[in-house]
Amino acid sequence: MKAAVMRGKQRLEIEDVPTPEPDPNEVLIKIKYNGLCGSDVHRFQYGAADNGSIMGHEYIGQVVQVGQDVTRWEEGDRVVGGGGQNPEPSSSVFGNARYSAQSVGFKSPKWGGFAEFVTMPEWAPSPIPDNVPDELAVLAEPCAIAVHAVRRSAFRVGDDAVVMGAGPIGLLIQQVLKAGGANSIYVSEPAPARADAAAKLGATRVFDPASENVIEEIIELTGGLGVPVAFDAAAAKPTLQQGLEMVRRGGQVLLVSMAWVDVPLLTVEWIGREVEMKAAYGSTSDDWQTVLTLMGRGQIDHKPMVLDDGFIGFDEMQESMERLMTPDEHIQLVLAP
Ligand SMILES: [Zn+2]
Repeated sequence: MKAAVMRGKQRLEIEDVPTPEPDPNEVLIKIKYNGLCGSDVHRFQYGAADNGSIMGHEYIGQVVQVGQDVTRWEEGDRVVGGGGQNPEPSSSVFGNARYSAQSVGFKSPKWGGFAEFVTMPEWAPSPIPDNVPDELAVLAEPCAIAVHAVRRSAFRVGDDAVVMGAGPIGLLIQQVLKAGGANSIYVSEPAPARADAAAKLGATRVFDPASENVIEEIIELTGGLGVPVAFDAAAAKPTLQQGLEMVRRGGQVLLVSMAWVDVPLLTVEWIGREVEMKAAYGSTSDDWQTVLTLMGRGQIDHKPMVLDDGFIGFDEMQESMERLMTPDEHIQLVLAP
C-alpha cells in the first residue's frame, strides 16, 4: 500500500509499504479520509516524529477485513478511527499511543492513517451514524478534543466565552459551546479565511487581534467584567497572556493548543484577580460518543472548515504540511488516499 512516511525533519516520502495484516482481534480499515492535524504539523515542523513512522490519527474508512475473533464488526462497516472503550485501560496515558486519541499530542504512532490501510483492535473504532457524511465524520477526532476541552472548562450554560484561534480546534470548540448553550461567543483570529469561517459558524463577534484591542473590546462587551472562560486554541505567543487579561475575577483560561515555543507572561496583570489556568489534553470515549451524537443532530458543520479544495492526494502531502506551518487560507486539509 501507499503511505506518507516520515524521513527526517520536515520530510515526508510517499512509499510502498506492506499492507498491515489484522491480528485475530483486529480489523483492517481502508482509509477514506485522514485530517491533517496541527499536532502532525508540529511533529513534522520540529522533527518530533520518528524516522520511518507514519503519522495521521484523524481517519475514517471502511472495515475491509476482520480477524477471526472479531465479533463487533463486519466488512463494509463505516467507522471512525477512535472513540472505542478500551477493555483493558492502560494506567499510563501514553500506553495506547498507537490506538488511542487520548495520547495523540506527543507520541508519534508507528502506523497511522496517512496510508491506504490501517489495523486497529476491534474495541478502538466507533460506528459512524448513517446520517453523518464522511466529510463531517472525519472531524470526529478533533471535535472530541473540543468536547473534552469544554467539559474540562468552567463553562456553564448561558455563559459568554472567548475562543482565541479559529483553526480546526477553535472552530469546533465554538460549535460545541453553541450546542452547549453559550450566550455570546467571541472569537479572536488574525487570518481572514479562519475569521470568516468563525463568522459563518455563528460567532457573536470576530476580532482581528492584529488591528483591534481584543482585551478592551471583550471587557467592554461584558460590562467591564470579562468573560468566565477563554479558550486558548491558538498557542500563539501573545494569546495566553491575552486570555488571562480578558477573563473576569476568578475566571478561567483553558489551554488546549500546545505552544512549542516559550510564551511570555506578565503575571501582575492577572494574578490579583485570582485567574485560573487549566489545560485539556486528548479525549475520552465518552467525548467521542457525544461528538457522534452532536454530528447526528446536525449541530456540527464541516462546510466552512473543510473547503472543496481542502481534500488532497498523497502527491500534495509534503507541500501541504509545509503550508500548514504558517496557516493562511486553509483551515482543515484532509488526505484522501
Ligand atoms: Zn489531532
